[in-house]
Amino acid sequence: MSNLIPPHGGKGLTCCLLEGAELDAEKQKAQGLKKVSISPRIKGDLIMIGIGGFSPLTGFMTKADWKGVCENFLTADGTFWPVPVTLDVSDEDAGAINEGDEIALYDPEGDEIMATMQVTEKYALSNDEKKWECEKVYMGEGTPTAEEFWKIAEEDHPGVQMVMNQQAFNLAGPVKVLSEGEYPTRYAGVYHRPEESRKIFDDAGWSEVAALQLRNPMHRSHEYLCKIAVEVCDGVYIHSLVGNLKPGDIPAGVRVKCIDALVKNYFVEKNVVQGGYPLDMRYAGPREGLLHAVFRQNYGCSKMIIGRDHAGVGDFYGMFEAQTIFDKIPAPSEPGKALLCSPLKIDWTFYCYKCDGMASLRTCPHGKEDRVLLSGTMLRKMLSEGGDLPDHFGRDEVVAILRAYYEGLTEKVEIKTHKAATGD
Ligand SMILES: [Zn+2]
Repeated sequence: MSNLIPPHGGKGLTCCLLEGAELDAEKQKAQGLKKVSISPRIKGDLIMIGIGGFSPLTGFMTKADWKGVCENFLTADGTFWPVPVTLDVSDEDAGAINEGDEIALYDPEGDEIMATMQVTEKYALSNDEKKWECEKVYMGEGTPTAEEFWKIAEEDHPGVQMVMNQQAFNLAGPVKVLSEGEYPTRYAGVYHRPEESRKIFDDAGWSEVAALQLRNPMHRSHEYLCKIAVEVCDGVYIHSLVGNLKPGDIPAGVRVKCIDALVKNYFVEKNVVQGGYPLDMRYAGPREGLLHAVFRQNYGCSKMIIGRDHAGVGDFYGMFEAQTIFDKIPAPSEPGKALLCSPLKIDWTFYCYKCDGMASLRTCPHGKEDRVLLSGTMLRKMLSEGGDLPDHFGRDEVVAILRAYYEGLTEKVEIKTHKAATGD
């Protein structure tokens, strides 16, 4: 019997990925259905629905779900959910599809039919409704009024841009997923389905597992967060995003190598597991922190490590807003539909010369001048310009992998910095 936290929503892992003869038959059928092209973000969502990472979701959200999630963090059936999971289609496709139709969802990049879907609802989202979604989901303490938010959001917030660029119509309905795309082969050994990570944790005899979310290369501060969690849990799941990021971010393959080097050289290997998940970043800060906890619960993690500016972008969110939001979310009326994975809140961590080790704002009494404070953004900027890094920021093994990556780049990317990056 498993001692792990149960999947979110009280229905077990709701996997919609077909296998064997059922898969062959559905693939055959899909050839005859109307094909609808999907974006990379939707492809990631679809795979997560397929493998049970988004349990209890079994398809794309209805308008009532969308509205409830934006407004109260609840789907129409009262299940906690922090970020809309919707499928937008072109006007042309929307015109040709009726409620009740069955369609095939096609990934143009991989030239592959990813899923079939029973369309239960077709609905429009006006520009004003999309703006409302952005204000509900993406607005934070960094831009507390709608006026301040919109002054910069359309230009500087990739999540807002994604929502505003969505097409006018959405389709809702249950899906049957036919493929996990390139993930199982490209990230073999790292890409896990929730049932796989749960088996690894069960085999290790774990019950309390903490998840570390990573989208940047793993440095000393991430290592420290992980080690704090190792001390208080049975194990840590270092879970990297292997979907799409912003231009200028470091690709997943390089980041996975950095984690391997760190785990091999600086961890008791049996206490950590590395995994990857197929989503794109939404940059929804606090709301995304909640989404991270929802799907980590499905992967078998009872704790979600939340540090400084989790899933943030620019200066849109307060440094610890992704921690405090866990205390503010409304409780669903049925306890089984609540989020069970809880945050492991850790203050800003860094190397301090006077402490002579890793420390946090809660443990280190010294000043800014004694601490090595460098954000992932500043680091990428320094590496891409070929400059030296401050001592104790990263482990030598990791820095060597990153240098090799930047030296191999033929085109230099410009990296935008912001005030949160400097520690001011
Ligand atoms: Zn100190």
